[in-house]
Amino acid sequence: MLNSVHLSNQELEMLKLMVDFLAEKPELCGKLEACTTTHYALTKTYSENFDMYEADAWKVFEELEKKIKEAEYVHVEAPSPIRKWFQVSPEEINMLRVIADYFSPQSKMAPASGFVGNRLESAIETYKWVFGTSEGNGEAARESFQNLIEKTQKAVSFRCETLAALVTTPNPYKAVLDMLQIAAEKLKLDAGIHEMLKRPMRTIILNIPVIMDDGNLRVFTGYRVQYNDSLGPTKGGIRYHPELTLDEVTALSAWMTWKTAVAGLPLGGGKGGIRCNPKEMSLGELEKMTRGYTRALARYIGPYTDVPAPDVYTDSQTMAWIMDEYSQIVGYNAFGVVTGKPVCLGGSLGRNEATSRGLMYTVIEAAKHKGVDLKKATVAVQGYGNVGYHAARLLDELGCKVVAVSDSKGGVYRKEGLDPKKAMQHKNETGSVVGYKNCTIVSNSELLELDCEILVPAALENQVTKANAGRIRAKIVAEGANGPVTPEADEILYQKGIFTIPDILANSGGVIVSYFEQVQNAMNYYWSEEEVRNKLQSTIVTAFKDVLAIAEEYKVNMRVAAYMKALKRVSDAMLVRTQKPFMTVARQQANLALKVKAMAM
Ligand code: NAD
Repeated sequence: MLNSVHLSNQELEMLKLMVDFLAEKPELCGKLEACTTTHYALTKTYSENFDMYEADAWKVFEELEKKIKEAEYVHVEAPSPIRKWFQVSPEEINMLRVIADYFSPQSKMAPASGFVGNRLESAIETYKWVFGTSEGNGEAARESFQNLIEKTQKAVSFRCETLAALVTTPNPYKAVLDMLQIAAEKLKLDAGIHEMLKRPMRTIILNIPVIMDDGNLRVFTGYRVQYNDSLGPTKGGIRYHPELTLDEVTALSAWMTWKTAVAGLPLGGGKGGIRCNPKEMSLGELEKMTRGYTRALARYIGPYTDVPAPDVYTDSQTMAWIMDEYSQIVGYNAFGVVTGKPVCLGGSLGRNEATSRGLMYTVIEAAKHKGVDLKKATVAVQGYGNVGYHAARLLDELGCKVVAVSDSKGGVYRKEGLDPKKAMQHKNETGSVVGYKNCTIVSNSELLELDCEILVPAALENQVTKANAGRIRAKIVAEGANGPVTPEADEILYQKGIFTIPDILANSGGVIVSYFEQVQNAMNYYWSEEEVRNKLQSTIVTAFKDVLAIAEEYKVNMRVAAYMKALKRVSDAMLVRTQKPFMTVARQQANLALKVKAMAM
C-alpha cells in the first residue's frame, strides 16, 4: 500500500527556489555564482528569504530530498480557481530527482562542472545521461522540464506517494491483542471471556457515494466498530483519515472499551471513521459525506445504543451534521446521539478542552508520585490539534515550560520555552507551527527524543516503537493520542524508569466529559463549566489512584495496571450478565460429560 506524504510549506518554497534556478530567475542564480557549492548557495538564499537559520534550511532540504527520492508518484495541486490535483509524469519525477541531486552535497548525477552555460540545457543533458533517454535533440525532455517548472512554480500543494514508511508501521490491533493477553494472564481472566474480548461485538462497513464539487461521483468507505457493550452503550469517536484501516478502527474501539471501564463510566467502547482526505475536500463535500455516513449508520447508533464523538480531523461541526441528520430520521431533536457538539446544540461546557484538562490532572498526580516539580518542568508536545494544543496551553498555565510542539508538517523547539497560544496563532495563519518565530526546526522523531521532563505524544499511533524507545529522555510520558507507544516500547520505557500514563487513562478526560454531556442531554439540564471541571477532576484522579495502586500491588507498569482495572470491570459485567462463570464452566461441564460417557463405554 502506498503512503501519502505532503511537502511542508517550507519544502515547497525550497523546491520552487530550486526550480527558479533552472528558469534563470535572479534570486538564486546570483548567489550561485558567488558561492562555492550549490547546496550552500541554496540554504543561504533560502535562510535569507525566509528568515531562518542556515542549519534549519539545510534540514528542510534534507527532508525534501528524501521525499523526492522515495516518491513513486507525485501530485501537484493547482491554485484557485482550478484548485485541482494533477499527476506529475514519471519523466518529470526523474527530473525532480536531477534537480534535488544537483543541490545535494553529495551530488551523483550532475556533471563535474555543474550546470554550466544554459542551465536548462545542462539539466536536460544530465537527465539524458542518467536516465538514458538519448533520442532526438532532447525536445521531449525540454518540454517535460518546462512543464515541471511551470507546475511547480504555480503549485499550492505537493504530494508524494511512497512505499517507504510501510515496513515500520505496526498493526495497532495486534497491540490490543498483545496487551489483552498480558493483562488477562495477570488477572487470571476467564478463558471464555478472554476469547470473546479478542474480537469486536459488531463491525459495520459502509460505502458512501458523494457527488463532489466538480460533478464527479466518489465513493468513500466508512466503518463503525462496536467492540463491547457489557457496561453500557458503546461510545467512541469518528476519525477522517486517508490511511484509515479497519484494523485501526477496531483497535481504537477496543481502547475505548478499556477507557470507559478504567474511568468507571457506565459505557462500552466503539469507534468509527471514513477513509478520506478531509484536507482536500470542501466543507460542502464533507457535509454530504458525513450526512451519508449518518444515514447509512442510523439504525445502529442512538443515545441508548452507540454514541459517536469527534476524533482526528472531525470536530463539533461534524457532530452537529450527524445530530441534525439523525434527528431528521427519528423525527425529534436527538441531542444525545453524539457528543462533542457545539454548546448551542446541547454540547457540554468544557468538552473542547476536556481530554487535555484530564491529561493535565493525571500529569499533576504523576509528578507528585515521581517527585517532579512542575514549576520547573519542560514539556514537548507532538501533534498540535485539539488535544496537543490544549495540553500545551494548560501545562503552560500550570507553570511548566513548553519547549517544543509539532504537527504533521514538522516541529519547532525553543530551549527558553515558547508561547503555546502564539504558536497556535502561527499555525492558524500559516497551516503549521513550523516557522514559528525564534525557534529551531525539529522533526517529529527528534521532538520525541528531546531532553524534557514531560513528553505528550498527541498525534497518532505507533510514534514510540522499540526502534526509538531507548532514546526517549522524558521522565513522564502522558499519552494524549491513542496508542502512541507500542507494547514493546512500553516495556523499554518501564525498564528505563520512565513513568508512562497510558492512553486509556491519560486521555480519558474526553470521554468522561462526553458522558457528562450525555447525562446533561438526558436531563435537559446543563451544568456550569466549573461543575464540569470539578466532576472531571474527581473522576480521573480516582481512576489514576486506582490504577497506581494496582501497579504497585502487582508490580506492573501503569498500562498493564490500567488494563487490569478495565478488564476486571468488563469481565465482571459479562459474567454477571450470563449468571455463571461462562465458557470455562461450560467447557468443564462438557469435559465431564465426555469423561462420564467414556467411563460408561
Ligand atoms: P486533531 O485532528 O485535532 O489533531 C491532530 C494533530 O496531529 C494535528 O495537529 C496534526 O497536524 C497532527 N499530526 C497528524 N499526523 C501527524 C504526524 N505524523 N506527526 C505529528 N503530528 C501529526 O486530533 P485530536 O482530536 O487532537 O486527536 C489527536 C489524538 O488524540 C488522536 O490519537 C486521537 O485519537 C486522540 N484523542 C482525541 C480525543 C479528543 O477528545 N479529541 C480524545 C482522546 C484521544
